[in-house]
Amino acid sequence: VVPVTLTAPEILLVRYGELALKGRNRSSFEQALIRNLRAAVLPLSKVRIERRQGRIAVFPERRLESVARRLQDVFGITSISPAWGAELFPDAIAKLARGVLEQTLAGWPGEGPITVRIRSSRADKSFPLHSNELDLYVAENILTSDLAGFERLKVRLKDPALTVGIDVRPERAYVFASRLPGPGGLPVGTQGKALCLLSGGIDSPVAAWMAMKRGCTAVFVTFHSYPFIGENAKKKVLDLVRVLSRYQPLSRLYVVPFAPIQLAIRDSRAPRSYRTVLYRRMMQRVTSRLAAQLDGKAIVTGESLGQVASQTIENLTCIGAASSLPVLRPLIGFDKQETIELARRIGTFDISAIQEPDCCTLFMPDRPILRGRVEACEAAEREFDVERLVADALRDVELHTLETGEPG
Ligand code: ATP
Ligand code: MG
Repeated sequence: VVPVTLTAPEILLVRYGELALKGRNRSSFEQALIRNLRAAVLPLSKVRIERRQGRIAVFPERRLESVARRLQDVFGITSISPAWGAELFPDAIAKLARGVLEQTLAGWPGEGPITVRIRSSRADKSFPLHSNELDLYVAENILTSDLAGFERLKVRLKDPALTVGIDVRPERAYVFASRLPGPGGLPVGTQGKALCLLSGGIDSPVAAWMAMKRGCTAVFVTFHSYPFIGENAKKKVLDLVRVLSRYQPLSRLYVVPFAPIQLAIRDSRAPRSYRTVLYRRMMQRVTSRLAAQLDGKAIVTGESLGQVASQTIENLTCIGAASSLPVLRPLIGFDKQETIELARRIGTFDISAIQEPDCCTLFMPDRPILRGRVEACEAAEREFDVERLVADALRDVELHTLETGEPG
């Protein structure tokens, strides 16, 4: 038997979680997925994309491995298999499968037996063998060959460690043996726009990522108290947005000047203990107004329950009551440690961990209110000009736009 030397894989077979999808949902899911996928890989390579039978075939012109890694950041994708192509003859397919298997075994850890199965599917019904017949043909061919490592193989049809997949297409048959995990979720853009409040802390980027994972287009909003808080804080949020911009085609960050609002609250007769809650309510108001202009459907924050004084149920109620949109809090059930782990995986943790002053601690009382009441907030807000402050803030908003980038 002549050993097969493999060249680089030709295509990427991309799988997505379509199980829960029906009818129109499904086609808009696929369209959004393809649009996002193309935008994600464009900086790396031109690609041809074909959608067939619940899978997407991606043909990169170059840098296939980088393209595959990049696809691991595209929501909606469940797995990616680099695949090699063979001509549509059973012996050519078997020979290629042998080569793919040999290469996979060469990188396999340990010494013990490896369970394996061959599984083919035919998009092209004109191929002379049925899938079962092709499976048997290839399996026999492999098991009777004497290539290195093949004595470790044990056939097992249920839950094998290794599956050699064969996809018979009209033009060629594709063979693969590895699966890179995708991030799952729904393609960005299949749900509405969510305005995501980003503070520069650990939590809010993770919350925004989770909203994107469920199909929201994230529009980022940060409140910046210049000159009390320096330019570095703004730069830090921009750096976070750059990381998050890997996960959607186009990211926008609105930087809202917050110092005038905080000064007005400080200089009013509003009770000191309510300041933090009042700041947050003003953030909700400005963001709700911005959402109305941008067709935003929800506001996302990194708040969790009971983590700090401002995050009691009562205070979250006060904060949410100032919003005209639903306030989504994806981290509500997370322990800090779980959020940190996710922040590491997403790639935001190291940026968030840099210490920067936080505008919400400006002019902070020694004893913030623990269980705020909405009526008390409303009474306090009669002590300063809410409407004018919101209008001024919106007028002075600064917009940054970032296209999706290469992984950092
Ligand atoms: P984070 O780690 O995101 O800062 P946190 O646990 O420190 O969250 P807080 O600082 O109380 O909690 O902030 C709660 C949420 O309010 C943040 O997750 C964010 O969504 C929003 N937020 C706070 N400060 C700002 C800001 N300056 N600009 C925009 N949003 C903010
Ligand atoms: Mg914070």
